[in-house]
Amino acid sequence: MSDPAGAVLLEAWQDWECPACGKETRTRPVPPNGGQFHRCPRLHGLTAPMVRAGTDCRLAAVDRGDYVGREHVQLGDDNRAYMAIETRHGSGRLDCAVLAPAAIARLHL
Ligand SMILES: [Zn+2]
Repeated sequence: MSDPAGAVLLEAWQDWECPACGKETRTRPVPPNGGQFHRCPRLHGLTAPMVRAGTDCRLAAVDRGDYVGREHVQLGDDNRAYMAIETRHGSGRLDCAVLAPAAIARLHL
């Protein structure tokens, strides 16, 4: 009697990196449009996307171009308002992670 074939267990992972600060991390695989974020010290401490390791791209923080008024916007460590983190790929594709202002609601019960 022969031995049954052993099961092969594959461990899959995804490597991520930040082209701005060099941070690297490894996660379980994510869906095709999934992502990984971190607080980036080179992008003013803002929440910035990481890219799949080996991706040809550059990240940049985008200044908020319009009036802040009474909105609660995200400030960088330089105390300036930012509206997005852009990822410009070598192919020319541009991805944008929007840093939307926060809304505040008050309940009167
Ligand atoms: Zn970073």
